Amino acid sequence: MVGAVKLTVLGSNGASPAPGNPASGYLVEALGATLWMDAGPGTFMELAKVVEPSQLDAVVLSHTHVDHCADLLGLFAYLAYAGVTADAIPVFAPVGTKDHFAAFARADEGHVFHDVLAFTEVGPGDEVSVGGFEMVFGQAIHPVPALVTRIEADGAVLAYSGDTGPGGDLITLATGASLLLCEASMLGLRDERTYGHHLTAQEAGEIAAIAGVFELVITHMRANWDVARSLDEASAAFAGPVGYAEPGSVWNLQPSERA
Ligand SMILES: [Zn+2]
Ligand SMILES: [Zn+2]
Repeated sequence: MVGAVKLTVLGSNGASPAPGNPASGYLVEALGATLWMDAGPGTFMELAKVVEPSQLDAVVLSHTHVDHCADLLGLFAYLAYAGVTADAIPVFAPVGTKDHFAAFARADEGHVFHDVLAFTEVGPGDEVSVGGFEMVFGQAIHPVPALVTRIEADGAVLAYSGDTGPGGDLITLATGASLLLCEASMLGLRDERTYGHHLTAQEAGEIAAIAGVFELVITHMRANWDVARSLDEASAAFAGPVGYAEPGSVWNLQPSERA
């Protein structure tokens, strides 16, 4: 059965790209529109295999850690120098992102960088409509400005944690979602030594249960990770379907009853 929203995993490796698995990046499609959600290293080429990059409706970045955004430079160079003709592509990202990338591209005023990417810096509570997608952004718990994202289209709801520790707006934005794509960077039970800016697999499951999502997909594990153990720990806390964001996998979201 074809879902209302199609999520394709371009890459899901945590913290860095790895052979066979780029870092975090996802293609979200609905109603003929396309979003590139996070642009981790390696994901631009995976994206370009399935959609024409110049036809993207928007790019959405959760934060500016390298593993979630570096390939935006690939899109910039493609749009600027590969001979394609397109309108500027909207980029929705946390505060500071435009200056960050403009500096890397050495893009002074009047540089082509500003003609091909149209930045809108967003923060918690902001709402955006683009290409049939309704997006709401919330606070992530992370060392740099970082967002959790709720994307609704055609009655289906995708919630994405980006990188976050416990707290923030993830549960609120994930409430009733068709699918929660949630980082599960760590294993085991949290104690006082556990890093506060990422989630354990068990916490991903707990968040899915509290938010009442239909389906949980865990992501952002490192190469050679014990994925089966992560799935077990998440499943112990969440009774619904739990999957792993394997690179290349596709998830069809059904309409949410509480969209
Ligand atoms: Zn990350
Ligand atoms: Zn991060």
